[in-house]
Amino acid sequence: MEFETHIQESTFHSPLADFEEVTETIEVRTDPLTGRTARIADGAFATPDDYDIDSVVSDAEGCFFCPGTVEEATPTYPEWMDVERGSWGEATSFPNLNPYAAHSNVVALTETHFQPMEAFTPRQFADGLNAALEFVHAAFDHDETAQYASVNMNFLKSAGSSIVHPHMQALVDDRGTNEGRRLAEAAADYRSREGSDYWQDLVDAERDGERWIGETGPVDWLAAFAPKHHRHVLGVVDREGVPSPDGAAVDGISEGLTHVLASYAEAGLNAFNVAIHLTADHQTPVVNVIARSVFDEYYWSDSPYFTVLHDEGVVTTAPEAYAADAHEQF
Ligand SMILES: [Zn+2]
Repeated sequence: MEFETHIQESTFHSPLADFEEVTETIEVRTDPLTGRTARIADGAFATPDDYDIDSVVSDAEGCFFCPGTVEEATPTYPEWMDVERGSWGEATSFPNLNPYAAHSNVVALTETHFQPMEAFTPRQFADGLNAALEFVHAAFDHDETAQYASVNMNFLKSAGSSIVHPHMQALVDDRGTNEGRRLAEAAADYRSREGSDYWQDLVDAERDGERWIGETGPVDWLAAFAPKHHRHVLGVVDREGVPSPDGAAVDGISEGLTHVLASYAEAGLNAFNVAIHLTADHQTPVVNVIARSVFDEYYWSDSPYFTVLHDEGVVTTAPEAYAADAHEQF
């Protein structure tokens, strides 16, 4: 497995050094699976020293995901789901009123309207994932054209969420997203070329190295060599196919997520995204977690032209540094 790094140097006369000539370095890394590149550059991720979001997150007035409303006012599933809404512990699932795919649901994750990311318990994530995976399995059973699925989470506005109340979203359809397709096709190519699973080979190559984070049951956690975004962590499930609700993979993912988020909180962050890529042809499930701009009154978008138009990861903290931070939480 190739972990390819290229150093670029940029020279200029700096006002911060009496206009002497200075040379800054930019590290460009290539993702071993897809060839996608990422840059490690100073100053790409500003974080405030302090923030106060209480006034924004405490207002539950009119929230459709709060208890009392979520089981009354949200849509109900079509017949093939067998239930009107899914229910696992605190989690309630229902169709997305604004669907993004042929099969598109929402999981209201908690009974509390808001809790900071470091307060999620493994049980809460497990119940949410159970509700999401129940839907994914049913959609794959119901629709034989469906090939791709993902379970996703935006947490707080700076991570793209319009709703404060913690929730996940599952998508299932016949074509997946650009990234879902890119990863699945690259992993299939790798398998036909190498005769083995890329993700398990990656885990073998990275285990106990400087990007290794830890393991939770059947899930191995590591920092992405070429991060797609800030503090990009991968969780690789060591068995193929869509995990069963209530199984060891769900418990491992849930416990690991709480540890990763604890390390983000320790770094002064408060917002994140998750995407778990799944396929009907039983590829290895992979969890992607990234940190987002700290959400406060005047939060700064961390999705500049690099992210939205170039699909180039540009991060400040090197994977080897945040892997060590996350490892402390495992
Ligand atoms: Zn709520």
